Amino acid sequence: LLQVEQVCKSFGTNQVANEVSFSMAKGEIGCLLGPSGCGKTTLLRVIAGFEAIDKGLVQINGKVVSTPILNVPPENRSIGMVFQDYALFPHLTALQNIEFGIRGKTSRLRKEKVKTMLDLVGMAEAADKYPHELSGGQQQRVALARALAPEPELLLLDEPFSNLDALLRDRLTVEVRDILKELGTTALMVTHNQHEAFSVADKIGVLFYGTMQQWGNAYDVYHRPASLEVATFVGDGA
Ligand code: ATP
Repeated sequence: LLQVEQVCKSFGTNQVANEVSFSMAKGEIGCLLGPSGCGKTTLLRVIAGFEAIDKGLVQINGKVVSTPILNVPPENRSIGMVFQDYALFPHLTALQNIEFGIRGKTSRLRKEKVKTMLDLVGMAEAADKYPHELSGGQQQRVALARALAPEPELLLLDEPFSNLDALLRDRLTVEVRDILKELGTTALMVTHNQHEAFSVADKIGVLFYGTMQQWGNAYDVYHRPASLEVATFVGDGA
């Protein structure tokens, strides 16, 4: 469903993606790991269409969306996004926030969809509450519902739970995994929390200074690290 081929991206002389290649099958959950500043967020922004690339290719669901001379805008990529800081509209209720992203349906169908999504994330009671009336964890649930409501092919998550306490983060991580699996949504998540990554991911990618050191099954990355960098960063050091 997602194909990233030999993508290069520089900001001035700072090369933050260096021939990055990996792919994901439909329904898979992938996690990008790596030290701070290694280029995880930039890669996500490239896939979302917020950054043009210098070299290479990105395909989503068989459609070429990025090349050095093409950059399909985010709204035409069939992606959903959840970021670290809950970007809910403060003046809209949970229900209205979720409804906002659903286009091209009748009002009744939209309302039904919103209700389904609120149920799915366990927030049925909060439909008419405003973001400031919700806790951080509840806001992230609404943000997830909003991102998933338009039924995107690919969900991109950038440190979605890093503002939350460890216990809640672990619980939400598992819940999100179950929701994504139930919907069959392909998702790519950036985190620097290894525990979080290994508890949700089918595939793990480890980035070091713009280079994808390893992309593979979570088990393999943990037990058979491809390089010393990966071994020292994740895994059992084998
Ligand atoms: P963190 O884990 O700290 O969030 P990251 O792995 O997500 O880091 P990026 O945010 O992708 O890393 O940043 C990678 C590099 O690209 C950094 O050196 C950063 O300063 C640089 N960078 C990111 N965005 C821009 C920009 N718009 N203009 C110039 N440099 C940028």
